[in-house]
Amino acid sequence: MSKRSLLLLPGDGIGPEVMRQVRRVIDWYTRKRGIEFAIEEGLVGGCSYDAHGTPLTDETMARALAVDAVLLAAVGGPKWDNLGFDKRPEAGLLRLRKEMELFANLRPAKVFDALVDASTLKPDVVRGLDIMIVRELTGGVYFGTPRGITDLPNGERRGVNTQVYDTHEIHRVARVAFELARKRGNKVCSSEKGNVMESGLLWRQEVIALHKAEYQDVELSHMLADAAAMQLVRNPKQFDVIVTDNLFGDILSDEASMLTGSIGMLPSASLGATDANGKRKALYEPVHGSAPDIAGRDLANPIAMFLSFAMALRWSFDLQAEADILENAVENVLNTGLRTGDIMQPGMAKVSTSVMADSILREMDKVAAA
Ligand code: NAD
Repeated sequence: MSKRSLLLLPGDGIGPEVMRQVRRVIDWYTRKRGIEFAIEEGLVGGCSYDAHGTPLTDETMARALAVDAVLLAAVGGPKWDNLGFDKRPEAGLLRLRKEMELFANLRPAKVFDALVDASTLKPDVVRGLDIMIVRELTGGVYFGTPRGITDLPNGERRGVNTQVYDTHEIHRVARVAFELARKRGNKVCSSEKGNVMESGLLWRQEVIALHKAEYQDVELSHMLADAAAMQLVRNPKQFDVIVTDNLFGDILSDEASMLTGSIGMLPSASLGATDANGKRKALYEPVHGSAPDIAGRDLANPIAMFLSFAMALRWSFDLQAEADILENAVENVLNTGLRTGDIMQPGMAKVSTSVMADSILREMDKVAAA
């Protein structure tokens, strides 16, 4: 079997610290499980701007397009806040997403039993929660034209954005949601505003058509996006996979992530189209940013980064049992009461980034041996 290729982009702030730890996890799979990875590292964000005058070089972009999966930590920081838009750290991230054509953003919201109390919602509402939001990432109102701000003859100004979706854009992201659901709870809820927006009506019709043609074994429901926002805090466990457009997905996925109460725990995956060899372009990254307030002090929670790598094992390398080892090890370590500062609770033991990583690595040995 040829080596699986990975491009690691640590980025800025706490990025290099959490990437250093996930590198140990990757090495664990090679040493203990015989799984070889061909690993390259590159610069993205502020560190790339400092070295090359751009947040992402053409060479790094080309490497990202060539590998099986990209693992990114975080970009940004106050040092680069005053740069022009195209030089800002985030521009590197946007270029990666755009050129890799990552149209499906997967954001799991899973509540670990040990962290039920970290949620602002009642324990009964979130205990056992495990849902996945699939957000369309490259279309809709964030990219539609016409767009802009114009001066009107009457002295006022007008701001315009256009919500637009074509059939193929809806089908490809809905397909990801249906495929995902088959590996989980087999339920998809599609969300739009078809009652007031034609683009939403088309979204619903096309999801129904695809479901009828290819995915009748999956349970499909529909919910208006405003109702979905309410149901996510009222009774989130009714959902398995939610698929929605770019704008509503932006909002609903942030809302869902906060049900878990801790940004240092949340992974994400962004997937592109499948090529002729059945491979998808894919980028895995924690939901959190570069946390400049705690950078360089061994305080960051590495778990979001670890769980992002677990998603890579699942979705890019089809190593389901290996992903289970890492996820179960994380859960077991949380059950022993170890906590980084962001998820600290009374009576628990506060540990550093590296001690948390050491503990998870030791636990992986135990889980793998069981
Ligand atoms: P942030 O996610 O970096 O931090 C928000 C808060 O959460 C901070 O108090 C931080 O200390 C804490 N936090 C975040 N991740 C943590 C972790 N793993 N462990 C422990 N605590 C953690 O968001 P922000 O403060 O709004 O932004 C900081 C910088 O990050 C900005 O430059 C922003 O543009 C950038 N950013 C980047 C991304 C990305 O790379 N995808 C996402 C969001 C923000």
